[in-house]
Amino acid sequence: MHFFSSARCFLSTHYPRKHLALASYLSLALVLTLVFAPEESAHGARAISPIQVGPNALSRALAGASTSALLKDEIIGSDNSGRVESMWTSFEVQAGDNLSEIFGRVGLSTQDMYRILNSSDEAKVLDKLYPGYELSFHIPEPGKLAKLRVLKSPLEGYVFSRNEDGYGIDPILLSAEIVPVLKEGVISDSLFMAGQKAEIPAAALMEMADIFGGEIDFILDTREGDKFSIVYEEQYLNDEFIGNGEILAAQFTNQGEQFIAVRYTNESGETGYYNQDGESMQKAFLRTPLDVFRISSNFNLARKHPILNTIRAHRGTDYAAPRGTPVRATSDGTVTWAARSGSFGKLIVLQHGGSFETKYAHLNDYATGIKKGARVRQGQVIGYVGTTGGSTGPHLHYEFLVNGVHKDPRTIVEQLPQAIALSPLELPRFKAQTRELLERVHTPKADNRLLSMRSGDSAASQTR
Ligand SMILES: [Zn+2]
Repeated sequence: MHFFSSARCFLSTHYPRKHLALASYLSLALVLTLVFAPEESAHGARAISPIQVGPNALSRALAGASTSALLKDEIIGSDNSGRVESMWTSFEVQAGDNLSEIFGRVGLSTQDMYRILNSSDEAKVLDKLYPGYELSFHIPEPGKLAKLRVLKSPLEGYVFSRNEDGYGIDPILLSAEIVPVLKEGVISDSLFMAGQKAEIPAAALMEMADIFGGEIDFILDTREGDKFSIVYEEQYLNDEFIGNGEILAAQFTNQGEQFIAVRYTNESGETGYYNQDGESMQKAFLRTPLDVFRISSNFNLARKHPILNTIRAHRGTDYAAPRGTPVRATSDGTVTWAARSGSFGKLIVLQHGGSFETKYAHLNDYATGIKKGARVRQGQVIGYVGTTGGSTGPHLHYEFLVNGVHKDPRTIVEQLPQAIALSPLELPRFKAQTRELLERVHTPKADNRLLSMRSGDSAASQTR
């Protein structure tokens, strides 16, 4: 009783928020990496090479965009007249680039740079360039900058145009056309490989693993034959693929047990992932403290079961993993120990509020900033797998304690109170908005028979 009331208290104080931040971070990373990766590889890692606006994927995508602010005829040369194109020079910002260097490449001085930098608040966008930004210069006469276009993404940026007073500003704000796509995979060796075979973007696969991270231990629980399907957004601008958006729904069948998640924005405007009964997928604890994608490349999860040892006296779970594999906090908490401790070797202990504590032993090293008193967030990397202390090979020894008493990390999570659910009053709205998506992700082609058998007791089978 005491355990559950403290657990509930824990849940209510520590509950939501992470998914949103994570999801938006991921989708940003996704847009940046996926949109720009081909470009990067096309002209080498670091070198800044001028590229004509015309053939550039971003610019091509922008051509013909409905927003007039784009000044499309002028910039893009939509009739492909080489004359217009040749007046524009574009750079994709690489890590380590700085603005004055880029200005130098097109024959502009630092004075030119400061003139535009100081021309408006909007120009401050140039103060903080991120890899993947695209800068396009229109220089009709040597040394005379007429226009500068800054694209933060294919959808967002500014055009600065020289006038008598300085520079006028035209914002660029476009919306992509969203096309939901369904992909399905079957695990034969690892989740990562299954995703590759199904041509699912790595970032979407990682996000799916995060969405189910409170339900499935992707390190220990995944098996050959596990199936999954994802509906995620592809973004297009004028029929040009520009990146991936959010995961809309996902289904994972783990050892015969089916998990479903659907993206939903509740009546208060908060977006998150829920199962088909309207229960949040966000759980107080992650099932596994390891980053599945960092070990899957050289580790066969399906065939070689990586538990070294689960005898009762052992008091924890061992995850064999290559040295250096990132170790994540399974829940928000405070570091109460980050130092050597006898046979544990390098050990981190986290206090999760109330009565919960987790321990991470035999580490090779601590992550930056991890020391006694530091606050950590769920999923944050706190250290790296090693073999310090009384350990025979690289592995993570993970413990879960409640009121100072060891619990089996593999089963304790199931005993925690279930996460927050939508209010019964909101369920009709939830069901109406998610029905179509759920049907889509719920019924992978090969699986119709199984699902129809299960549909009768779906409520029971989804509650765990
Ligand atoms: Zn151990």
